[in-house]
Amino acid sequence: MRIHLINPSDISFGRGVITPRWLYVLAAATPRQYGDPLLVDETLVQLDFSTVKKGDIVGIGIHTANVLRGYEVGRRVRELGAWVVYGGIHATLYPEESFELGGAHAVVKGDGDDVWPTVIQDCAAGTPETIYDGGRVGSDRFLEARWDLLPEKGYMFASVQTVRGCPKHCSFCSVWRTDGQKPRQRSTDAVINEIVELRRRGYRFITLSDDNFYPVTLTDIVLAEKQGNQARITELKTLREERFELMEAMSQLPKDMVFFTQITMEAAEDSAFLDAMSRARIKGALVGIEAVTEEGLKAVFKDFNYSGENLVARLKEFKKHNVHVLGSFIFGLHTDRAETFTATAKLALEADITFAQFVMMTPFPGTVDFQKWEKDLGENVQKIDGVPVTRYWLIPPDKRPKLYTPHPTMNPEEIRMRTQKVWDAFYENGAVWKRSNCVKSMKAKLAFFLISKLYRQMYANTGIATDSARRKSSTNSAKWLTLPLVWIFRAKPMPDLQKPANVAGVRPFAILN
Ligand code: SF4
Repeated sequence: MRIHLINPSDISFGRGVITPRWLYVLAAATPRQYGDPLLVDETLVQLDFSTVKKGDIVGIGIHTANVLRGYEVGRRVRELGAWVVYGGIHATLYPEESFELGGAHAVVKGDGDDVWPTVIQDCAAGTPETIYDGGRVGSDRFLEARWDLLPEKGYMFASVQTVRGCPKHCSFCSVWRTDGQKPRQRSTDAVINEIVELRRRGYRFITLSDDNFYPVTLTDIVLAEKQGNQARITELKTLREERFELMEAMSQLPKDMVFFTQITMEAAEDSAFLDAMSRARIKGALVGIEAVTEEGLKAVFKDFNYSGENLVARLKEFKKHNVHVLGSFIFGLHTDRAETFTATAKLALEADITFAQFVMMTPFPGTVDFQKWEKDLGENVQKIDGVPVTRYWLIPPDKRPKLYTPHPTMNPEEIRMRTQKVWDAFYENGAVWKRSNCVKSMKAKLAFFLISKLYRQMYANTGIATDSARRKSSTNSAKWLTLPLVWIFRAKPMPDLQKPANVAGVRPFAILN
């Protein structure tokens, strides 16, 4: 009896951009008595169904974008006599779908870290429960991923998680509702263990796949002080101190290592934090800018962000501290007008951000926006192939609408075309080449150019492309681009690399008060 863990995808690129961390974490949660699980990331290569035998246990992780393929894999392996278990955010939100459409025997809701061994035991005994509630495990129980199972030369970036959960409450995001608003921060020791293990294996580019790398802002501390809430002040300061401790330890890692993360814009007001990031070689961060106007920010419950000139100043602050920004913008908000697109494109250039993504407003399950959208539609739901649009992930991709929420002044096609134009302008060859000045060597410039193009192609593939021909052509381009990039991103393995001495408890560079 073997355990299989599958990351479903319709499209396989042969090489991947970022390791799907959950595969390696659940591999670590698999009791050794069952042998090493077989890990299949279908973004690299499709599952070979002949490897699945009667009595095997197949764990499938699904999110909104890959449910159709996930359900197909589940049905087929069930026909082969395997036990089928679903997990991931989509299975957590819609467990019934996995049974109705995906041939599930069981569904794991929430975090799988703790509960996975029980699921395996029960399946092996032939008596699985229907639902397992993994809840939210404490950060001291996060498992270190089994990086020894990584395929050689599979990915450009490895992924390590340092904190789960986000204290904010953006209306388009499900993170704070699923992972919780209380940051669950891992110990420095556990994070460094994984990073060192990855560098030993030749991975020098690492994504810190956190919900929000900056869970405590200076304003949070000031507010707690104003309230005289001593317990809260201590809690916040401890979390902050641990961040600095981690970054200090990271700064002692090999100098060729490069990290990326995701952060809120408030970090721009925290010079000490940005300096620490720079020393830790966290060279890039995805910053959710979302909208460039005050009304737009209010519309997505993100009024802690800045707009206009203040926004440009905040974004430039990151670059001053050597942290490059991948700015994320949303189009299709009810406050957007035709001129918003031009203003956004202009601002992205003025603010000198290094990468950008321009996504079209989509109500994702588990978000406040989705709840409102579903409620507003009530019984008047449009159906496509018999599927209500409020279950759009079950509609074949070619037939899905490009925009779900009606806009007061623009039709979906206008929004799609204008969004496309902004992408094209930002990733135009000359503009990308100019931005490649942020790195020095010719090899690094070439890598920068290729990764910019890859980013553009991969997005066109899943987002705004109108037809399957264009999606197919984007996939092919992306496949070709990943080949040299995986080679460029690899480093010589350092099998003898040791952890920096005394990583836990090192005195951080600078701590508030
Ligand atoms: S969008 Fe970012 S800041 Fe907002 S809730 Fe989600 S993770 Fe937090």
